[in-house]
Amino acid sequence: MINEEIVIVATKNQGKVKEFTKLFHKLNKEVRSLADIDQVPEIIEDGNTFIENAEKKARIIANHLNTPVIADDSGLCVDQLNGAPGIYSARYAGEHGNDSLNNHKLLSELNKLNIEPDKNGCLSQAQFMCALVLVNPVSDQVIKVEGTCRGWIIDQPRGEFGFGYDPLFYLPQYESTMAELNVDEKNKISHRANALNKLYEILK
Ligand code: IMP
Repeated sequence: MINEEIVIVATKNQGKVKEFTKLFHKLNKEVRSLADIDQVPEIIEDGNTFIENAEKKARIIANHLNTPVIADDSGLCVDQLNGAPGIYSARYAGEHGNDSLNNHKLLSELNKLNIEPDKNGCLSQAQFMCALVLVNPVSDQVIKVEGTCRGWIIDQPRGEFGFGYDPLFYLPQYESTMAELNVDEKNKISHRANALNKLYEILK
């Protein structure tokens, strides 16, 4: 499917779509997301891992369209919270995809631990995780890869770019949060870019 011009990514998350569009542009591919497709089947994300959820999304949409589909399941795992919010990242505060409520909940959970922030406001190490699964319903090919990106959670949001937990995710090597990096800079180091590079290496 990597030789075809259009890549279907099973997501409605516009933050992810923007990143995938830039990432696939380098490979001369156009991205179509679920926002471009009518009557998308309902997908209940009830897997126990990022990979299980990504595979479920990819299979349902690939079988529905009878064409290869890539799905992304991703999230944030915070060390001091024993890996939470993890697979529940999108609905950590209850309402699916409400970034500002999720960020607020993350800070309030860390506040309960009374951690003394360091000089940069860092409270806990953390990592973004991204599982990508490609399902080709015609050949029955399934490819699964994962990418990570490590950083720190800081005590107040910074930056306007990105989405989700980016404003709270600090990268010491850039002295910036993920939301202070533009999409091209984020795409050089992100969990999503890492996973996509692995997928590309397998497909090329
Ligand atoms: P999914 O759509 O079920 O994979 O949920 C992904 C959730 O994880 C998003 O709603 C964000 O809260 C979080 N997330 C995933 N990737 C990123 C990222 O690149 N930056 C910030 N938050 C992310």
